[in-house]
Amino acid sequence: MERPSWAPEQIDLDLPSAARMYDYFLGGSHNFAPDRAAAQAAIGIIPELPAVMRANRAFLRRAVRFALDSGVRQFLDIGSGIPTVGNVHEVARAIDPQARVAYVDTDPVAVTHSRALLADDPYTVVVEADVREPERLLADDGLRATLDLDRPVALLMVALLHFVGPADDPADLVRRYGRALAPGSLLAISHGTGDGRTAESDAMLRLYADTANPLTARTRDEVAALFDGFEPVEPGVVFLPLWRPDEADEVPARPERFCSYAGVGRKP
Ligand code: SAM
Repeated sequence: MERPSWAPEQIDLDLPSAARMYDYFLGGSHNFAPDRAAAQAAIGIIPELPAVMRANRAFLRRAVRFALDSGVRQFLDIGSGIPTVGNVHEVARAIDPQARVAYVDTDPVAVTHSRALLADDPYTVVVEADVREPERLLADDGLRATLDLDRPVALLMVALLHFVGPADDPADLVRRYGRALAPGSLLAISHGTGDGRTAESDAMLRLYADTANPLTARTRDEVAALFDGFEPVEPGVVFLPLWRPDEADEVPARPERFCSYAGVGRKP
């Protein structure tokens, strides 16, 4: 397979990655045949997946706007993915042209492409780091030069933590991030679940087990527990399309079919 310029040498082009599959679901072009085959198989299990991914991006936009409306002007977007329509800095800049964003991902394609896109942007940084190493990630020089951690930050973990298995204790990881953030900081999470769609969710977990990013589905209580140390923002942890929809008619008849929960919390 020919390697395009945005695909760094170290990546295994034959092993599907969550970032490139997600890019495919959203109609992007930074993916390879194995990513597309895995994504197609996933759509075979849950035909609404592209709509779920668009709903997830819509939640991200709503959460960013909520943060700006709450006076938060800095964003730490972990598991930011391959840039696509409506990236965090674009949504934020529509309201505050000097909003600051640190994008973080482990996927080399996501990092390389984000850096190429943002090379001349003084208010953003792209960090290659793993969410499972909070202290190392938060100590990054570029991140520290971009974000002032003594002031509130919106920590975005959108469609990320289902890629962190129980052995890495995501609740403990979030707690460690929370400790480093100033009061008034926000935490936005969306997360895959099998609640309401158990058989499809189990099949999806088996499929992702053969990718670079195995999945862990969590129940509503398990997702709510990730907000330890944060006060829930209304309406709490709900099925993804139900989190403060822009228009009532945007809410699908069966939101549980989106296989995801979403919520936002505020550090007191
Ligand atoms: N947050 C974006 C969104 O919701 O539109 C992208 C979500 S995409 C489904 C998940 C991203 O998480 C991928 O880009 C993947 O590379 C990244 N990811 C997975 N495990 C990670 C880890 N341990 N640390 C940092 N990023 C990770």
